[in-house]
Amino acid sequence: MFGTGLLKGLGVTLKHALETFDDDRESVPDRYRGSLELGNNRRVIQQPIDQEGLLTIQYPEEKRLLPERFRYIPMLIWDSEKDEDRCTACGICAKVCPPQCIWIVRDSDENGKPLTRASEFYIDAAVCMSCSFCVEFCPFDAIKMNHDYELAVYDRYPQLVYDMAELTVPLEYYAALWPTQFEEEETRRREEEEKKRRQDEEKAARLAAKQAEAAVKQADAPAAPKRSAAELQQLARERAAQRQAQSADGGGSDDDDAAAKKARMEELKRKAQERARQRKLESGE
Ligand code: SF4
Ligand code: SF4
Repeated sequence: MFGTGLLKGLGVTLKHALETFDDDRESVPDRYRGSLELGNNRRVIQQPIDQEGLLTIQYPEEKRLLPERFRYIPMLIWDSEKDEDRCTACGICAKVCPPQCIWIVRDSDENGKPLTRASEFYIDAAVCMSCSFCVEFCPFDAIKMNHDYELAVYDRYPQLVYDMAELTVPLEYYAALWPTQFEEEETRRREEEEKKRRQDEEKAARLAAKQAEAAVKQADAPAAPKRSAAELQQLARERAAQRQAQSADGGGSDDDDAAAKKARMEELKRKAQERARQRKLESGE
């Protein structure tokens, strides 16, 4: 029917107006309850999660509290516990970044050997599209998305090309910005460390058991008799003589072997004939 869409639109506007009025009526007495003071007469408004109306924020004096999942440009994590950058300069984030706005220079020692840390790290915030691919692919939880969106400047270069010092934040800052995600990561890390510790312990126990088994076997084995030097020399002489005799016996020619075989056969034949003659005599034939 003609005009239905118009009526629907007005209905939505009216709904929001009433909800806003309702929300305002409830929160006006303590609109700033739970808000965070930023100094300079600025504050972050803690807008109730279940609010349905359209609360007006007096920006820039007031800012809305951002949800945890909000992301703007990346930041690099400085691990305060280990007192080092988490970034190992592996370069994965730079490879996966769709607009290619990350540059990394790997650090090296005095001999030119590459180190697992970056000496320079740049992100061009004018090109970054806040996709968070770099965060998803980083294997070391070294890069995360910052909530700071107030980056307006007059010139793109150099202000919007952030270097390592500008990008780096302490771990506590990240934990405060992303509390749920941080806790999940820490739980996972603790579980992995615990698993590795258990595996190491089992490995050490298996090794100790093997060593103990070998020690028991060694203790059970009969001890070799101790011989004096003169006895050992005598033994060596006897063995040498034995070997010599064996080689002399086994060292004859093929003709000698054949003759010995023939003599043996004749001996056996003669013995058999002798036994047959004896049996005949015994039977009286
Ligand atoms: S931020 Fe992560 S992915 Fe990027 S270079 Fe550093 S460790 Fe590698
Ligand atoms: S958020 Fe996306 S565009 Fe920005 S630096 Fe990371 S990967 Fe590149």
